[in-house]
Amino acid sequence: MSQPWERINNLPDDEQASRDVSVNTLSELRAELATAHSARALAAGWGFSHAGCTTGTRLRMLSFSGVSEPTDLLPGMTSRPFDLDVAVPSESPGPLRRVGAGTSFADLNAALHTLTVINQPGFGDLTFGGVMMVGGHGSGINRGNIASQVRSMDLLTMPERGVTKLVRLEPEPLSDPLQFVRQFGSDPRTAELIVDRALFDAAKVSFGTMGVLSSVVIDTRPSYRLHEDRDVRDLWADWAKIERQVRDPNVCGVHLWVNPYRVGADYKALQSTYRRSLDMKRNERGWGIREADAPFTRYITRGIAKELPFFMPFALEFSFGALEADGVVMPSPEALDFGPPNKMQVSASSVSFPAEGLKDTLEKLLHHFKVTFPRNLVSSLIGIRWVKGSDAPLAPQFGRDSVMIEVPVLNDTEHQQETLQKYVEFAIKELGGRPHWGQRFWMSSQELRSIYGAPQVDAFIAARRRLDPLGVFDNSLTRQLAL
Ligand SMILES: Cc1cc2nc3c(=O)[nH]c(=O)nc-3n(C[C@H](O)[C@H](O)[C@H](O)COP(=O)(O)OP(=O)(O)OC[C@H]3O[C@@H](n4cnc5c(N)ncnc54)[C@H](O)[C@@H]3O)c2cc1C
Repeated sequence: MSQPWERINNLPDDEQASRDVSVNTLSELRAELATAHSARALAAGWGFSHAGCTTGTRLRMLSFSGVSEPTDLLPGMTSRPFDLDVAVPSESPGPLRRVGAGTSFADLNAALHTLTVINQPGFGDLTFGGVMMVGGHGSGINRGNIASQVRSMDLLTMPERGVTKLVRLEPEPLSDPLQFVRQFGSDPRTAELIVDRALFDAAKVSFGTMGVLSSVVIDTRPSYRLHEDRDVRDLWADWAKIERQVRDPNVCGVHLWVNPYRVGADYKALQSTYRRSLDMKRNERGWGIREADAPFTRYITRGIAKELPFFMPFALEFSFGALEADGVVMPSPEALDFGPPNKMQVSASSVSFPAEGLKDTLEKLLHHFKVTFPRNLVSSLIGIRWVKGSDAPLAPQFGRDSVMIEVPVLNDTEHQQETLQKYVEFAIKELGGRPHWGQRFWMSSQELRSIYGAPQVDAFIAARRRLDPLGVFDNSLTRQLAL
């Protein structure tokens, strides 16, 4: 059977690795890294950006998979309280778990049994390390990005040529120093436990630029079920209600899928609303979700994108009817996964904007899509998700509660890359948006400084110089952004 990376490759192809190797153990990883001139870890390869590229050694990390109970922590360590559920206010946090960086969210949730993650992205095949490193996220204004549930991370670095060093980073003491020495030895040239919040925060969203992540310790919570309602709505009719629902403690999360083109009197959107449920699993999602990847659906959407682009706004409008369904109850890993639409072949860009003032941002974006149509055709619904602010200096959600607006364009659409590029450039230049590191983006070092602020960029560079003084993890992106 072919390996996942032989089937998936969303990476740009203008930078080719001189060596491409799958590593299975820490000693294999050490040996490969020690002989590499430059290197970059890669997980499942779903990422669309240059962040995952290298001309040196590509280290495939999917074998670093699995979940275990950490036995090397200080006594009494447990998960932090999550966004306490109004429905079950007395629920206590779960125990901590060690997770291999290459573990997919589907495997992770399965291995957690009666527990689950605090938050997850909308696709179970993505890996914990891959999503965490790019500032990836799920949804819910009370939930941080994926990196926010991490308490400790093990990074393999190369501070001296030919000498690799395992760095365990923690923002506050979690691991037992004696057990760490027992496991990795007492030579600080090859292993070190570092408790340093600023370094930890910079490294947790560093898109592979500070070392190779082998595992993390994460918070967990007891498994739970969600009630999903998907309703078609006029976008601007009672906009204030969406803003209220997003912040309502009884609502776990809201997603909007918007037709970027206005067909009738108002823009149309599909609103998914998630609430905690104590009911058993019941009902099914709309057939349009279940059949999104069916050969017939692919044939139709491809045909319209390729041959009849002027009909795309109407096709998107028509699709809403097949997506509605109320009262669907599912375990949280299933409810938070978008399901078959993930398999549609697209290239995508996603940008973070402040949650405050979303209406104004969205109006400007929709105007942008209008004036660039039909040459730049957005051939899918655009996705809007809310995420709590992050303390990682280069996380797209840094310092502000955010909305991530994702624009997917089908692979058969003409001018696909140009459409994405114009979206990202407009978002950065006109709206101060910050691109998702795992999706397609175009950005200069000046723009990076203007959208994050010089102190954040400098904090990131300082962390890089400390963890990667030789620039082993440099690539075209770090050079372009002067990181
Ligand atoms: C169908 C689909 C659905 C998606 N849904 C979401 C979503 O809901 N939310 C969201 O935020 N994003 C989403 N994304 C984007 C996703 O976050 C990126 O694609 C991301 O790159 C994760 O993919 P991956 O696990 O295959 O990691 P990869 O693409 O393999 O790697 C991503 C980055 O992380 C680095 N990296 C990977 N592993 C390691 C490691 N062990 N050590 C150090 N660095 C490492 C790589 O160098 C690279 O820069 C989606 C993408 C797709 C294709």
